[in-house]
Amino acid sequence: MNGLMMDFPLTLDVILRRAETIFPTREIVTRLPDRSIHRYSYADLARRARRLAVALEGAGIRPGMRVATMCWNHSQHLEAYFGIPLAGAVLHTLNPRLGADDLAYIIENAGDSMLLVDESLLPVYEKIRDRVRFDQGVVVASAAKTANGMRTYDDLLASADPGAYVARRIDENDAAAMCYSSGTTGRPKGVVYSHRAMVLHSMGEAMVDSLALCEGDVLLPVVPMFHVNAWGLPHAAALVGATLVLPGPFLDPESLLDLYEKERVTISAGVPTVWLAILAALEKEPARWHLVPGMRMVVGGAACPPSLLPGFDKHGLRVIHAWGMTETTPLGSVGNVRKELRDLPEPMAYAVREKQGMPAAMVEVRARGETGLIAWDGKAMGELEIRGPWIARAYYNTPDGADRFTEDGWFKTGDIVSIDPNGYITITDRSKDLVKSGGEWISTVALEGALMGHPAVAEAAVIAVPHPKWQERPLAVVVLKPGASASEAELIGFLAPKFAEWQLPDAVEFIDAIPRTATGKFLKTALRERFRDYSFPAKA
Ligand code: AMP
Repeated sequence: MNGLMMDFPLTLDVILRRAETIFPTREIVTRLPDRSIHRYSYADLARRARRLAVALEGAGIRPGMRVATMCWNHSQHLEAYFGIPLAGAVLHTLNPRLGADDLAYIIENAGDSMLLVDESLLPVYEKIRDRVRFDQGVVVASAAKTANGMRTYDDLLASADPGAYVARRIDENDAAAMCYSSGTTGRPKGVVYSHRAMVLHSMGEAMVDSLALCEGDVLLPVVPMFHVNAWGLPHAAALVGATLVLPGPFLDPESLLDLYEKERVTISAGVPTVWLAILAALEKEPARWHLVPGMRMVVGGAACPPSLLPGFDKHGLRVIHAWGMTETTPLGSVGNVRKELRDLPEPMAYAVREKQGMPAAMVEVRARGETGLIAWDGKAMGELEIRGPWIARAYYNTPDGADRFTEDGWFKTGDIVSIDPNGYITITDRSKDLVKSGGEWISTVALEGALMGHPAVAEAAVIAVPHPKWQERPLAVVVLKPGASASEAELIGFLAPKFAEWQLPDAVEFIDAIPRTATGKFLKTALRERFRDYSFPAKA
């Protein structure tokens, strides 16, 4: 229709232009590997990101190609966040904590053309070097002038003519970034984020009833930039003009608390393991740090331990509980207290905040039980299904992922929930067979398969057991073949070459038979129940 407002593409370029025009001097602060602090501004970021886009084109990167990063949270990674999509290419963030098998698979499945890797993570690259190929080369970030003869990020930037940038016409539905999820079973699965999804997601995070991110904020994402784009927070910060503080490789509580204090951080985000350690450090030395009163701590990636809410309240700091997934960019729901519930007495108010919260604006949820969609009565349970402008509609290059989407286009989360009449979601269980340890997934199926390859093992099941520091750790439950013997140490040693060390079970329990369902599958719920109060033997 004539005069209709349309055709203004929602691309990351719009976010960057706003940051450099309206907030050119706002700072981006990075803690470097030598612990010194690097500072520059959104104007500097925009200039360097555009220069990176030119350099990538010069290096042979063409629209649609995937450029991988394996980096901590720092300003060069942030330049890649914008520079790669500005070149029309797709930022693919790799998780350096994954084992070599998974990394090699992910790089191959994504078809990455180039890798930008931190110097400190070169040992991880070395493990996969012979198994992967980057046609457009490997570039070392945060490195001195030369890194073992490899091309450095500064060299790459220097190769570009700063005046050569010409804004590319990008369709808002083009891919800007991708990240791999553990899915529910099987191999990791690629999720592709469009420019439009990421712009709308940034606005969704900034809304007052969401994380209320604003230009006066100083935001420090502890969540790594390789986990769902650090939960989309760097993009949201650039959109609103918030100061951004990036902690580099230093994620221990003291280093973080020092940065919070020094940079006057007002909002930070991470998984519960991080917050448990920070709270413990504050309890130990309450007078050591002077944080901004009312600082918000966004807790997500795993259920917020109830103790965190009163624990941080005591220090005048505010926990915000949020739920999300790689497939949901990730913001799905936020546990703010709505008007009707604000006068509740304390224990009940905490009970509200412990829930996973109400769906973010524009995100729709429903849950399906055995007999259909469940009532929102806070009691009935079913698998959470979700849809919205930043929710995945398919996995990348993964034909066997189609069963995670309903015929009418909703994503099946694998989380079992109840939903109350106010729209608050409570996660009660999950149907996916995984362990989430300190925010990182461990595939029980992969561990079981490997264990059952041991000549003494008849059957093996791996389950998640609650753990005070990591939320969950894997326990292997093993039935030995008649007459065979194997010790715990022998079985864990057998697994060690195939997995990253943190993915190995903390203990092995030997039992006579693994309980089964009517269809003969391992009844993991019964095992989880049996070992609910299990305490792992202290490590030497
Ligand atoms: P990921 O894709 O690695 O971000 O993992 C997403 C999954 O982590 C969800 O499907 C949940 O199982 C779990 N998760 C994330 N946030 C929460 C939360 N606030 N409470 C409980 N589980 C969560």
